[in-house]
Amino acid sequence: MPLPSGVSHRELMVSFKRIRGQDDLPGCAVVLTDISERKAHEQELLRRSRYDGLTGMINRSYFSELLAEAMDKARGGGRLLAVVGIDIDHFKDVNDTHGHLVGDRLLFDLARRVNQALPPESCAARFGGDEFVMLVPVSDTPQAPQEALRMAQHLHEQLSQPWSHGTLNLVPSASMGIAFFPTHAVDLVGLYQCADLALYEAKRQGRDRTQIFTDRLLTQATRRLELSEALRHAVDRQELRLFLQAKVDARTLEVVGVEALLRWQREGEMVSPAEFIPLAEESGRIAELGAWVQEACCQWQRRRLDRGLALLPVAINASSRELETKGFCEQLRRLLERYELPAQAVEIEVTEAAMFNDRNSAIAEMKAFRALGINVVGDDFGTGYASLSYLTEFPLSGIKIDPTIIRSMTVDHRMKLLVEGLMRGVMSLGMSSVAEGIETLEQQALAREIGVEALQGWLYAKAIPADAFDAEH
Ligand code: C2E
Ligand code: MG
Ligand code: MG
Repeated sequence: MPLPSGVSHRELMVSFKRIRGQDDLPGCAVVLTDISERKAHEQELLRRSRYDGLTGMINRSYFSELLAEAMDKARGGGRLLAVVGIDIDHFKDVNDTHGHLVGDRLLFDLARRVNQALPPESCAARFGGDEFVMLVPVSDTPQAPQEALRMAQHLHEQLSQPWSHGTLNLVPSASMGIAFFPTHAVDLVGLYQCADLALYEAKRQGRDRTQIFTDRLLTQATRRLELSEALRHAVDRQELRLFLQAKVDARTLEVVGVEALLRWQREGEMVSPAEFIPLAEESGRIAELGAWVQEACCQWQRRRLDRGLALLPVAINASSRELETKGFCEQLRRLLERYELPAQAVEIEVTEAAMFNDRNSAIAEMKAFRALGINVVGDDFGTGYASLSYLTEFPLSGIKIDPTIIRSMTVDHRMKLLVEGLMRGVMSLGMSSVAEGIETLEQQALAREIGVEALQGWLYAKAIPADAFDAEH
């Protein structure tokens, strides 16, 4: 009889059966049952319950068993266990742009790289998606963090080797978060949570880096959770405030427009948008906040026009989530119609990160704004990595130069030459330009020298409540 697949030998079960023989004498029959198939099936079930189908790595539940065993052993002392959470940067883009088959191939190859980079006595698992976790024992000495970071660095180098598939060439990168047993947590759930928080921080810091857990991350996470929860009621409880910051003409210093900057007044504290906007993006509340800002800007603009004041375009910041949402532009169009405002009453500011998140949706939405006659400005220009290409790739009407650019020009003359050349390009493309974060006369002079049209910064005005702005202007 042929052997079942995956079976190298037969397994037989021997059983004895009491019988009555001839002449009614007591006897015994030996029964041999071939259980090879059943055993093979059981093994296959066990394998499937422990290993990941795509990469062949162990899965989350088996990894947790191994980690629990390792924790029991390590309780004896002398060793720490490093749990390393690994997330492939921008993996979603590969899936979205090149399809799931290519994404799967990349994951398969990256899993192999993780396995190859494994130090002795370590193991690695795929927890699902593009998330891998490694368990590495390290000696319990003050050098443990350095040892773990060196290991992470090695893994990082392996993962970041160029990868090609057909005509596609990529340089993958990964973010990693490390937590130690028993230093940071003494149980599985706590350890995963600490590694996750460290990983989240690595991503928040701009990805492509490794972060070790610290207590500060837990405090920050608690605050984020608290704010996220409270943010759900911010609109209903009328806690949002529209602040405006003037933009002035670079030559005459006359106010030529304003930027809408959102504030959240919560229990006597003024929470900065730098803190709550990312939370709103994560929790999906940004659409609600964005809609509130748009309406507040239109109401403000209507009040001004009703008072017979000249039109001052108000620039509204759009986050990546908003820019990816179909109908984002339509929402603003309807508001303009409702408040009987011309398209020039508003302007949209988009950061580079938002444009690159989901490039096609961003371009479509930006084109829709431009088609209505609404200007779209590239915010924080010069802070990203693809600034030059975005000038032609995205339908921008202008750029907003980040404060770091003007500041670096004050200390490095070559930077000034470079930005001067760039500004000539921007002007010949017919784009507008604003320099933001101007705090000193020196910065103002430099911005003027390179031909920037408008300036914004504390040298002229801070962001103030919309009502206070109206009283002044
Ligand atoms: P941003 O759009 O780049 O806004 C410029 C930030 O620089 C503002 O911070 C502004 O108050 C600050 N600033 C202006 N002049 C100076 C200066 O001379 N010196 C210094 N040091 N800072 C200056 P703010 O108001 O805290 O906003 C931070 C970021 O939050 C904004 O950066 C924007 O990306 C985001 N944000 C603000 N309001 C909204 C909103 O309504 N929607 C969305 N999606 N994002 C918003
Ligand atoms: Mg802005
Ligand atoms: Mg900016």
